[in-house]
Amino acid sequence: MTASLGSRVSIVTKARESAAELFLKSEQLLRFRIAFALVSLVLCVGIATLAGSELAVEKVAAIVGGVSIYSFIGLAFIVKRLRNETGKLRAFNALLITLDTMALTCLVHFTRGIESDLYVLYLLPILLSSYTFGKRGIYFSALLVTISYIGLLVFENAELLPYVLSAREDNGLAAAYSGNLWRRILGRAFFFASVSLLWARFCDYMSRVARKGAERLLEQLDANEKLVADSEARAKRERLINSINKAVRSTIETDKVFEIAVMQLAQAVKADVVAIVCMPFANPVSNPFSNLYKSGEKGGGRRQEELVIVEETTDKKSDQTFLPPNLCMFLLGQKGAYEVEKGEKVKTFNFTDPADNPMFAPVKSELQNIGLRSLVVQPMMYGEVSRGIIILGDRDGYRNFNESDLVLTKVVAGQVAVAIEHANLVAELSRKNRDLVGKNINLDAKNSELKTMQSQLIHHEKMASLGRLVAGIAHELNNPINFVHGNLPYLRQYVDELKKVIEAMDQVPEEHRKPVEDLKNKLKYDFLVTDLDNIIADLNEGAERIRHIIKNLRSFSRLDEAELKEASVREGIESTLKILSQYYGKDKIAVGANFDDLPQILCYPGQLNQVWMNLLGNAAQAMSHLPEPVLQLSGTLEGDFILVSIKDSGTGIKPEVQSKIFDPFFTTKPVGQGTGLGLSICHSIIERHGGQIWFESQENKGTTFFVRLPLVARKQELEKIGGDLFSDPD
Ligand code: ADP
Repeated sequence: MTASLGSRVSIVTKARESAAELFLKSEQLLRFRIAFALVSLVLCVGIATLAGSELAVEKVAAIVGGVSIYSFIGLAFIVKRLRNETGKLRAFNALLITLDTMALTCLVHFTRGIESDLYVLYLLPILLSSYTFGKRGIYFSALLVTISYIGLLVFENAELLPYVLSAREDNGLAAAYSGNLWRRILGRAFFFASVSLLWARFCDYMSRVARKGAERLLEQLDANEKLVADSEARAKRERLINSINKAVRSTIETDKVFEIAVMQLAQAVKADVVAIVCMPFANPVSNPFSNLYKSGEKGGGRRQEELVIVEETTDKKSDQTFLPPNLCMFLLGQKGAYEVEKGEKVKTFNFTDPADNPMFAPVKSELQNIGLRSLVVQPMMYGEVSRGIIILGDRDGYRNFNESDLVLTKVVAGQVAVAIEHANLVAELSRKNRDLVGKNINLDAKNSELKTMQSQLIHHEKMASLGRLVAGIAHELNNPINFVHGNLPYLRQYVDELKKVIEAMDQVPEEHRKPVEDLKNKLKYDFLVTDLDNIIADLNEGAERIRHIIKNLRSFSRLDEAELKEASVREGIESTLKILSQYYGKDKIAVGANFDDLPQILCYPGQLNQVWMNLLGNAAQAMSHLPEPVLQLSGTLEGDFILVSIKDSGTGIKPEVQSKIFDPFFTTKPVGQGTGLGLSICHSIIERHGGQIWFESQENKGTTFFVRLPLVARKQELEKIGGDLFSDPD
């Protein structure tokens, strides 16, 4: 308020000064004055000549000299363009008025003196002086004019003065004349005084009117200036808000928004320090402010590393923050004070000399150390929740942050709160996204696990069905073949005995033997006997073979061996080869075997047979097109492991699919021929036995599968799947 009044007064003064200066500088005025003087001179001389009065040479010379000097001075000022110095100008104008008066005095003198009516011209300097010197100028020039005129009258009528001073009736004409003179003197003095007074009043009035007008104009000016200042402030505020808005929209990096906001706000409010103080995000990984706080500050209470201080200060001496963290923590901690009810306006706190305020007693020393005398705390509210604070501080005790500063700070606080909220939301979203991605990965893993389990179940079921079928056939064939096999020795015995009976017939006399011999010949007894032996031998062999097949079938299905037990790997492979006799055997795929003397291993023989079945089946199919296919088997003992290799000379596996062949459902075979489950089942069975399976393959040259099995399988693992396979049909 004081400042605005002061500025107004100075504006009024300046306006007046510049008006006077303008007037004083006016070249027209000078020209007028000079012209006026010249005209006066011409008039003086002209009138004097016409009147026939005798002009004293000295008088004329004095007048001409005076007027010339007067003109030259004026011209000199015009040439110099009367650049400045109001004092000089005033002096010059005073001189001009004096010269005007003198010139007029001459004019009056030469135009009949006391009788001349040109004395009215004396009003001109009176009137003109008002422009330059105001009321005082009017009185001064009126005085000057009066003195000059009275002086002239006195000078012209010097001889009458004694009569004027002692006017008596008997002085006759002189007395009358002096009376007239006296009246003239008083009359003229009165005339000049009253005109000057009136003129002064008039000028006063005019200047009052003008002043009022000027004041009104100035008020208008003030209002305009305020309006301009307001609009400038608003524009500045809007620019700042826009740039912060832009920053908020263009980035989710809150530290950038903080830096921009603090920098812009500091430029706008011109405070010693502007700072944003808040707590970082809960998640330290996504905390973008971790590097903003400069560690090493002293202070207690909560962990200092948790605090975010972004500040712009004029005091950049140290590499620490200007605002002590303790002070920031204290101000940030006053959350209760910042809270607002729903619909209530956001609060702003403005303090002068906070160190003297009992409210700030806990941080008094910090405030004194940095010498803050003006402090503004603006909570950054998002809804009813405070996200942090903006601090404005100044060391100047008279630095009252004005309304515009506070409004601006409040708006910036709102923007920054929105930015923090955005960043929080983004962090929350990305956390949720991470969770979802994690869950998705889990789901994928579970899905593929399920698929594998499903494929295993299908395969297990298939193998179980096959096992049951094989077991059933073996069981059904076993009894009849046992009858056949068991009765064959009796058959031979009975046949032999029958042969003996028939041979005994040879002892019978010939005539009695005739019908028997005829029958023998008819039936080709010798052939019959020989063939019967052959038949019995064939039967024996056939029965043996059937028994052998049944044994293999039983061995393959291992119905009696669903439990974890010791078994020979070599036997398992050989029985599987026999099952696959459509591929392997005489005139089929040649099989070479090279087995060490291998001990039995603790395993699920049925499951291992399934592995051999798959590997040998694949090998046979890979060699189906070859004229001379060869299968090479080997088994070696390697410490606590047995290493089995199954080498075929088939098509080999293409390098690009080698990484996939253990995947469930991966097959290169035509639809209906391959399920793509064989190797994946093999892999899981071997793995569960605690062993490994791998292969080496060269395209068009062949493939070797290696299976390494521990002598003692991992019981627990195996028990998980034990019994799934080949369950007893009974
Ligand atoms: P399937 O035999 O039903 O296709 P597998 O899992 O047993 O399923 O085999 C997967 C694939 O691995 C086969 O389709 C075949 O391309 C390849 N493969 C397996 N064994 C051999 C082998 N001995 N020689 C060449 N390719 C083989």
